[in-house]
Amino acid sequence: MYDCYNRQINYLRISITDRCNLRCLYCMPEEGIPLISHDRIMHYEEIATVVREAVDLGIDKVRITGGEPLVRKGVEKLVAMIAAIPGIRDFGLTTNGILLERFAPVLKEAGLHRVNISLDAVNPVRYRELTRGGDVDQVIHGIEAAKRAGLTPVKINCVVQQSSEEKDAREVQEFCQLNDLEIRFIHQMSLEHGCFTTVEGGDGGDCSRCSRLRLTAEGKIKPCLFNDLGFDIRELGIRQALLLAIQNKPEKGSVNTINSFQNIGG
Ligand code: SAM
Ligand code: SF4
Repeated sequence: MYDCYNRQINYLRISITDRCNLRCLYCMPEEGIPLISHDRIMHYEEIATVVREAVDLGIDKVRITGGEPLVRKGVEKLVAMIAAIPGIRDFGLTTNGILLERFAPVLKEAGLHRVNISLDAVNPVRYRELTRGGDVDQVIHGIEAAKRAGLTPVKINCVVQQSSEEKDAREVQEFCQLNDLEIRFIHQMSLEHGCFTTVEGGDGGDCSRCSRLRLTAEGKIKPCLFNDLGFDIRELGIRQALLLAIQNKPEKGSVNTINSFQNIGG
């Protein structure tokens, strides 16, 4: 499918939960956020139906994100349901890696192709500060497990404050070089202030080439991360919500005053 600006839309990012086992400084307040109630969170069946319709409209790349997707019960069942849909050429998941050591073999077995893992520091003290309590060793074990399981290429997402020359970022880069991992630097963004730039080493942030739709954990199809527009699958029906999102995809990002990273998934 093409949108009104002749961009081909082939990538769907799905946030399956707004819950998380970390509290990264730039993403979540320490006390957490008011959580979406269980009856509003999409069921796995609903998500799989959205993916089926989206593939029918030309989506061939799917990513599961969150919140932290690995904290949602039975995530491997959803992975298997999506993996069974013919026509998906690239099927990934973005995780903080904390629970990945246990999940990597299960996710591979269920049909996931690859993982992106967020890692902003390798120094244990800095990692604990940035995530408000996370243990970087668990992430490192998760990365090793993902490689062993063949969830490759394993890519690392590293959020930087100012530049990829910062100490934490340089240390993560060295770690990636030593461990044969691809790295992408993401500049810290602000949805409500419309601050975004392109991703170094990735393809996000360039509006003229944007191919993405997003599905929030409560069932809204969002045509743009930096916009308030969202089309509710339960109110409009899945196909109509997808079509409206494609037709109304803005030319450029502006501001998003409704969502935050942990409920839209980045
Ligand atoms: N919990 C998983 C994780 O951390 O990878 C998946 C969800 S998280 C919201 C997805 C990505 O968004 C992560 O790579 C995270 O670093 C990034 N992110 C969160 N808040 C951000 C912000 N304010 N600016 C830029 N990236 C952000
Ligand atoms: Fe959780 Fe990911 Fe947000 Fe960190 S960036 S608080 S791991 S959702």
